[in-house]
Amino acid sequence: MEDVDVLVVGAGPAGSTAAASLARHGHRVLLVEEHDRVGHPVQCAGLVSERVLELAGSRRFVVGPVRGAEVYGPGRAHLRFQSPTPRAFVIDRAGLDVFLADRAARAGARIETGTKFDRLVGAVNGVAVARLTRAGGEAFDVRTRLVIGADGVASAVARAFRLRRPVEILPAFEAEFPECPADPDSVGVYLGRTIAPGLFGWWIPDGAGGARIGVAATADGTTARSYFDRFCERLRSLHGWRLRSPTSYIVSGIPIGRVPRTSGARVLLVGDAAAQVKPLSGGGIFTGMRCAELAAATAHDALTRDDLGAATLAAYDAAWQKELGAEIDGALYLRRLFLKLTDDELERIVEALGAADLEATIVAFGDIDFPTGVARRLLRQSPSLVRLVPKALSALFGDSGLRAPDLDFGSRRQAR
Ligand SMILES: Cc1cc2nc3c(=O)[nH]c(=O)nc-3n(C[C@H](O)[C@H](O)[C@H](O)COP(=O)(O)OP(=O)(O)OC[C@H]3O[C@@H](n4cnc5c(N)ncnc54)[C@H](O)[C@@H]3O)c2cc1C
Repeated sequence: MEDVDVLVVGAGPAGSTAAASLARHGHRVLLVEEHDRVGHPVQCAGLVSERVLELAGSRRFVVGPVRGAEVYGPGRAHLRFQSPTPRAFVIDRAGLDVFLADRAARAGARIETGTKFDRLVGAVNGVAVARLTRAGGEAFDVRTRLVIGADGVASAVARAFRLRRPVEILPAFEAEFPECPADPDSVGVYLGRTIAPGLFGWWIPDGAGGARIGVAATADGTTARSYFDRFCERLRSLHGWRLRSPTSYIVSGIPIGRVPRTSGARVLLVGDAAAQVKPLSGGGIFTGMRCAELAAATAHDALTRDDLGAATLAAYDAAWQKELGAEIDGALYLRRLFLKLTDDELERIVEALGAADLEATIVAFGDIDFPTGVARRLLRQSPSLVRLVPKALSALFGDSGLRAPDLDFGSRRQAR
């Protein structure tokens, strides 16, 4: 039976980032990926911030800059932002995953594709034994001091270690089209309960003349595919777009919420497995990669001290929550408000955001990784927005007898 220091499950951005960092420190790392090819199938729209390029240390997978955005309400209200400098980047997502896995391999990690983490089969001398299965069905066991679950939204590692994940999974459906009828350096966001209750519909140019068009919505019994068809119909009626047949589809899920514990004895969860996803957009590449770096730092310390107990590894929970917890909590709070809004209220909010000074604030302070900062500024700056939002606040707190909270959730948290 093979012995390793760390078994990393899942060669997505989070798993490969953790594997590279730990291998660089000289630990014996085995990175397993259930698919035969890293990066495939692609399950992502591929819109990221500059921070992701910095974390990767490369720009080679960038296919185009994004300078503008168009946001549509459920009716005809819409806004357009344009920035002189790139505010985000469209990437070749499979290219990013391959680049990161390659970086892990160059650092010394051993990668086995077509190999799935199945379950834990016990412990030998306090070391975990994991059962892995190859694509052909052959099962084999590995002894490991630590398991890092980077195995995405349906994490088998979380299940094996009994780490509870009470999160909402938003079904998502996205298709790639060979044409892009819209501005090639902008992205489009469409709000409304008919097309995407709970999140939004989007188009993102793919940098090669085509577009990625998709929706993610609350799981309410209507399939993501049905929401997608309604969204395409909306694009037809609003813009007159008649899209040809898509070249590929993605069906996946986006985890939104808080996992109470992302560590335990001999285990850490990172990325989508830990629901380290931005609740207002569903984006998780930046958060997953950054948390993977923090997980690797805690793991390196624990492996060096040979203490892989739950108390030592809990330092990882504290580290990522210190850095991203306030943003995620603030965004979850805003999302709860968003879920209470009617289509009519959403339409009026988009209208109100069209005021020139608010557009300027969005362009100056908008940040796709930390959107609550600009939301706070907008609420402070606009009386008409604040007049719309309290309705949602009273709907949220009305029955509970709680007082509507101060909108400055940053300072509320510090006061706790
Ligand atoms: C439609 C859609 C569009 C999105 N668009 C964006 C976007 O534009 N920008 C953004 O930042 N985020 C986006 N996201 C979210 C983003 O894709 C995820 O947050 C990100 O991929 C999480 O990275 P990860 O490494 O945690 O997990 P994943 O990328 O899901 O990687 C997990 C890996 O683990 C493997 N695996 C799973 N189970 C096992 C097992 N038992 N054994 C071995 N391997 C296993 C999987 O095959 C996979 O390769 C989107 C998501 C969806 C669904």
